[in-house]
Amino acid sequence: MKIGFDLDGVIIDHTDSKLILAKRLGYDLTPQQTASDEIQKIIPSEILSNIRSAIYDDADIAMLANLMTGAVESLDSLKKSFVPIFLVSRRHNPNVPIDFMKAKGLWPEYFNAENSFFVATVAEKNSKAKEIGVTHFLDDEMNVIEVLKDVPNRFYFDRFNLCGDGDGYTRVVSWEDFLKKVYGY
Ligand SMILES: [Mg+2]
Repeated sequence: MKIGFDLDGVIIDHTDSKLILAKRLGYDLTPQQTASDEIQKIIPSEILSNIRSAIYDDADIAMLANLMTGAVESLDSLKKSFVPIFLVSRRHNPNVPIDFMKAKGLWPEYFNAENSFFVATVAEKNSKAKEIGVTHFLDDEMNVIEVLKDVPNRFYFDRFNLCGDGDGYTRVVSWEDFLKKVYGY
């Protein structure tokens, strides 16, 4: 077993920063509406890309993010079970998330230069996962799940429990739920 993880919306929780930035731009969102697959239904793409660049590339705003509930505990439990873990993220400027992970104790403890990969496109996410030999991948975007064809076990992180189950992937609502389903109990 080799498990790959997406970063944003899986390990990093941008809910608060998205709420604040969206409000400044005139959008009063609920926390549920900040999920990657929901916010794009509400906020036009050019405005959304401004919000994304702020939370991803502005070092001060990036530090307002939180860790997802249960992420550290779960990564720790995988580490103690000697399960190889990998990070495959579509960030253009990895220094900002690396600094965030350092500040939160995730880097280099769980992720580091050896097991973390920053790619440009969804297709590259799939090819990187294939190259590593990832058997399981956890991501919060359905368009990524759909493209990760070379990963045998795809897990869709639906943290606000908004969707039904679908074919070709396993839906999980929390880190605890993910570990349960990975281990099959
Ligand atoms: Mg994501």
